Amino acid sequence: MRLRNKPWADDFLRENDHIVVQEPFAHKNEWQTLFPKEQPLHLEIGSGKGQFIAGMGKQHPDINFVGIERVKSVIVGAVKKVIDADTVNVRMVNEKAEDLRELFGENEVDHLYLNFSDPWPKTRHEKRRLTYHTFLEQYQSILKPDGSITMKTDNKKLFEYSLISFSQFGMRLEEVELDLHQLDDPLNVPTEYEEKFAEKGQPIYRCRISFKD
Ligand code: SAH
Repeated sequence: MRLRNKPWADDFLRENDHIVVQEPFAHKNEWQTLFPKEQPLHLEIGSGKGQFIAGMGKQHPDINFVGIERVKSVIVGAVKKVIDADTVNVRMVNEKAEDLRELFGENEVDHLYLNFSDPWPKTRHEKRRLTYHTFLEQYQSILKPDGSITMKTDNKKLFEYSLISFSQFGMRLEEVELDLHQLDDPLNVPTEYEEKFAEKGQPIYRCRISFKD
């Protein structure tokens, strides 16, 4: 059972302000100032318990990472993993990504990750899917013209929907894998959900798309 409103979570997130960005909206266009070095900025939406972003931070010291996770009791786990990873290039934000243009300036982000996003299977919830065209508009605005998006999911329906959505938006498919774990990509950092589904033998889908003409 997920514990809701862990009473100590607020304190924990405040105390770890070297990792948890306290006033994220105040950093629009200034995210680089939160890091020791100015280097490419990668953003993950829905970081969950943080295995991916903590692992990526360690694997890529030459990249600055920001992870957004809306659920307080979940982001706490991510912050702990980032602390354990002992990296200086990962920052976490406890917000619901609604309009990313309020958080990031135009062309401020180099790469975006959508890992095992909520599938919202009902048609009436289509607008909530993170690959709905209103989100793609936001991504296009905050990403550099040569930036790209990596999506991983176990959900075939969400993957199919997203490929159509990207295509209708005029995006370019740069890479696609229909069974990522058959590939054995040595650089792949698995997320918590990914490990769970892969252990059950489910294929993991991955694609990279860009806004390039
Ligand atoms: N990426 C993790 C978790 C996947 S579950 C993994 O692969 O293991 C999806 C996560 O996204 C949940 O933790 C949920 O709270 C978060 N989330 C969904 N929509 C969000 C939004 N709009 N802004 C921030 N977090 C969001």
